[in-house]
Amino acid sequence: MSLEHNPWQMAQAQYDRAVRHLDLPPYLVDYLRHPRREFIVNFPVQMDDGRVRLFTGYRVHHSTVRGPTKGGIRYHQNVTLDEVRALAMWMTWKCALVNIPYGGGKGGIVVDPRELSPNELENLTRRFTSELGLLIGPDSDIPAPDMGTTPQTMAWLMDTYSMHRGHAVPAVVTGKPVSVGGSLGRNQATGVGVMFVTRRAMRKLGIPVRGARVVVQGFGNVGSNAALAMHEQGAKVIAVSDVHGGLFNPEGLDVPALVRHVEAEGTVTTWPHGERISNETLLTLECDVLIPAALENQITADNAEAVRARVIAEGANGPTTLEAEEILRARGTFIIPDILCNAGGVTVSYFEWVQGLQFYFWGEAEILARLEQILVAAFEDCWRLAEERGVDMRTAATALAIQRVAEAAELRGVCPQL
Ligand code: NAD
Repeated sequence: MSLEHNPWQMAQAQYDRAVRHLDLPPYLVDYLRHPRREFIVNFPVQMDDGRVRLFTGYRVHHSTVRGPTKGGIRYHQNVTLDEVRALAMWMTWKCALVNIPYGGGKGGIVVDPRELSPNELENLTRRFTSELGLLIGPDSDIPAPDMGTTPQTMAWLMDTYSMHRGHAVPAVVTGKPVSVGGSLGRNQATGVGVMFVTRRAMRKLGIPVRGARVVVQGFGNVGSNAALAMHEQGAKVIAVSDVHGGLFNPEGLDVPALVRHVEAEGTVTTWPHGERISNETLLTLECDVLIPAALENQITADNAEAVRARVIAEGANGPTTLEAEEILRARGTFIIPDILCNAGGVTVSYFEWVQGLQFYFWGEAEILARLEQILVAAFEDCWRLAEERGVDMRTAATALAIQRVAEAAELRGVCPQL
């Protein structure tokens, strides 16, 4: 992996750029630049044919300064420790930015979940949960879904943890199905949140949402819900893609029907009402908003010149490399950074955790209204700081978040103190 494409080096470089705008003691600059702790586990899982396969999993806690660690668990064949470190650090900044009382964490297993049967996925999840037993808990570390994991995965995790405790502990994980203590609105929260901040950005930039051309890379939880939400606002979703390829229709896709198609067929590429295109071409389509919602390193120095979007709304974590960002910024592309743009998921996860701790549940309208209020406030904070300091939105968002974590760290002090 080239330096440019190592997510951990990218996360640290973003940190270095933002921390320069703050006046922090050197020990804090160093402390927040590193993960608090890292867990690596190799564990066996029984396959359907009787074989036993060994898997590698990670859980990284970047910061515990502002509260328990929060962050998803990813199942993907390319998961690495460096990727998990980067995602954990971004979670710290994301939680601080939307001002919820969590530190940042992340986990992952090196596995292609499409190659495992439901039974094997359940075995894998239950064993990994048991391995994580020392770390996770409603007061210490609360996982959630990420790429390759679903509400069902979270239900298995919740059940395994609860079996070890002898009673149901719904607040150990978020992103669960509603019937086991999940929150209304959580499933669509990240995608709807992308719409809330994108709509705000478009208003600031004078781009009408109605009729705006939107392109979405990745049609999983984030991408499909962001596409649906933008479609419901009157935008024209002209292209979408998944791991199998892309689909383009300049007249606009019927997103609700496409979602139903993907539920049945598993891919956007077999939808008959559009032209098949590659993921590479999709990123270069002329549009008002490009929403990368798949994985890291999609917009790089190699393709940034060809990107013709006015706004990039980062639904995925880390989709734009540093070099690409320089190129895009010079050309006036407005980037809504991941830690702001996709923070809707962790915000409603926080609501889910609060509801789970209290065993008292809220209505969906209340949840979405609170979500919008929090995301719009965070957007405005970043916009203001970016204007004041003459910096881009990512630097503003990261600096704001680091400042909040640093303040908490200073107030807590260093333990033990001589
Ligand atoms: P998901 O597994 O539900 O969906 C991922 C989608 O990306 C699928 O449609 C898949 O086919 C597609 N994809 C995979 N590889 C691709 C490739 N090379 N090119 C094009 N498409 C590809 O995952 P998700 O939960 O929607 O997460 C997507 C991104 O959003 C990740 O970066 C994740 O960290 C981030 N994120 C997710 C949440 C959440 O609540 N789920 C919250 C914040 C951030």
